[in-house]
Amino acid sequence: MIAPSERHRHDVVVVGAGIAGLYAALKASEHFDTAVLSKVFPTRSHSGAAQGGCAASLGNMQEDNWEWHLFDTVRGSDYLGDQDAQEVLVREAVPVMYEMEHLGVPFSRTPDGKIAQRPFGGHYADFGKGDIARSCYAADRTGHAQLHTLYEQCVKRGVRFYTEFYVTQLIVRDGACLGVVAWDLTNGGLHIFHSRATMLATGGYARAWQITTNAHANTGDGLSHILRAGLPLEDMEFVQFHPTGLYPHGILISEAARGEGGYLVNDKGERFMERYAKAKMELAPRDVVSRAEQTEIDEGRGIGGRPYLFCDLRHLGAAKIHEVLPQIHELALKFCGVDCVKDPIPIQPTAHYSMGGIPTGLDTAVYADEKKTPVPGLFASGECACVSVHGANRLGTNSTLECAVYGRLGGIAMVDWLRAQRSEPPPLPEGPDAASRAEIEHLFSGGGGESDAEIRQALQVGMTARCGIYRNAADLEKQLAEVKSLRERYGKVRVSDRSLRVNTELIEAIELGHMLDFSLTIVTGAIARKECRGAHWRTDHPWRDDKDWLKHTFSWLEENGSVRLAYRPVTITRFQPQERKY
Ligand SMILES: Cc1cc2nc3c(=O)[nH]c(=O)nc-3n(C[C@H](O)[C@H](O)[C@H](O)COP(=O)(O)OP(=O)(O)OC[C@H]3O[C@@H](n4cnc5c(N)ncnc54)[C@H](O)[C@@H]3O)c2cc1C
Repeated sequence: MIAPSERHRHDVVVVGAGIAGLYAALKASEHFDTAVLSKVFPTRSHSGAAQGGCAASLGNMQEDNWEWHLFDTVRGSDYLGDQDAQEVLVREAVPVMYEMEHLGVPFSRTPDGKIAQRPFGGHYADFGKGDIARSCYAADRTGHAQLHTLYEQCVKRGVRFYTEFYVTQLIVRDGACLGVVAWDLTNGGLHIFHSRATMLATGGYARAWQITTNAHANTGDGLSHILRAGLPLEDMEFVQFHPTGLYPHGILISEAARGEGGYLVNDKGERFMERYAKAKMELAPRDVVSRAEQTEIDEGRGIGGRPYLFCDLRHLGAAKIHEVLPQIHELALKFCGVDCVKDPIPIQPTAHYSMGGIPTGLDTAVYADEKKTPVPGLFASGECACVSVHGANRLGTNSTLECAVYGRLGGIAMVDWLRAQRSEPPPLPEGPDAASRAEIEHLFSGGGGESDAEIRQALQVGMTARCGIYRNAADLEKQLAEVKSLRERYGKVRVSDRSLRVNTELIEAIELGHMLDFSLTIVTGAIARKECRGAHWRTDHPWRDDKDWLKHTFSWLEENGSVRLAYRPVTITRFQPQERKY
């Protein structure tokens, strides 16, 4: 029996302590009482895994400007990104990078003391013509440096942290968000958080795939909270596969490895990117490089005929590898037994990043529909959100940038929103925690007979096999039926550990329910989109179709488990769609 819920009240509640959530909290806390809830210790948030860098056209290594950055981001997104949001991203990048420097982020430096920058795939000079070093970095631990700095600043400013609190639902009344319900992982028990502004910054969802760079915590909880509140998600079919995951588990070898000059080679020793992106080679955007790798593997040119290729850094030399890629050296050694100074690293494409997510406006206010109707009191930013700056394919180092720019803007927007409120917020509805209570009690005492571990594995294997780099109608339909059947089986899961304290089995079971819910929207959106765009590649419709598909997908999960779709046009301000050639 779960005890009555404890109640808390804050002006602002931010769910998530990654770069997006912490930046938002930092800004909101300048004016309002702000709390951050996180299911992991804040500095264990997945942002800490970001290796390669954070893009901004500082021009510290050679001439650069925000318009070139904008062009690359628009073209990289395969023209699905909203260009007004992309312009905010690249313009704000420069002041935000200096603000982070002044907050204390220990960036690597040029010999004359400026923030050091390195090349990354998809980022070029002069509207795609030349090469550029645009990604600001702190060795290959950039996210770690940003996350720790922001956490320290939040602590200094008195942000209240509820660490290892697992948010189980939104509290919505008359269409407005009034807070969240959370489970205290350490002590057990539900807590009700009544807030005037709530931000979701819960990160990505690539844990629904078997081979992934993502941490165990990246289970897309925030997205399922949105679906369960009757709200839509946007562009869920667009999931990025990173070209260099360590074989066989998919742990990330940062694109910084190629940015610093690493080669990709096949079984014949060929730098095969010459066949797919002659001009930009290994530094073509990720969708292009991952498809090239998958083609090499499918056509039998994987190493020894197996499903991997090599990332070769040996020509960079030991000194450079140890200075600018120390973590990559360590990861390859620890997880593969490969010393990349002496041997090439075995790599494969791996599920990495969620372009889709919670639809928001430029001020991070969450939309209730494709007509841009805002949900009062609810905001979202970072990887869980879809503003949409990445469209169909994200460029490397534009994500931590999005978290910083839109996390910061979201914090400011919440302050503005709170200042504009003329009346007291409405009271909470009766039994605001009823759904969470019912969910947990069902998992403790439900039907039984099904194993959450088996269901999770079947979901992840199926998503990798049938909803991966190359997709087709038959596979996707099969996967949709599979997810529906797994959802039915999930109804019979019962957790065997009945303790309330530190019950990881309970949380994993709840997370599985989330992954099953949002996977339905991914697969349904992918079935409907009969074209190839960015990371969504349909072998049965092998072309981009701007006439019918230059639009965003909105998806709602209905009570009967079906997914309802609607569409919204892409915002185009400067660059008309062109063929993408690299
Ligand atoms: C290995 C790796 C390397 C990367 N390298 C780069 C890079 O070099 N440059 C770049 O730009 N991008 C990179 N990315 C992408 C980038 O790191 C992420 O997109 C970004 O850090 C996400 O930040 P976030 O703030 O949105 O969420 P996260 O940092 O993932 O944080 C999510 C937060 O939400 C909390 N949370 C989630 N669910 C709940 C819940 N139910 N209740 C309570 N709290 C919850 C978590 O505890 C966590 O605090 C990389 C990604 C990976 C996987």
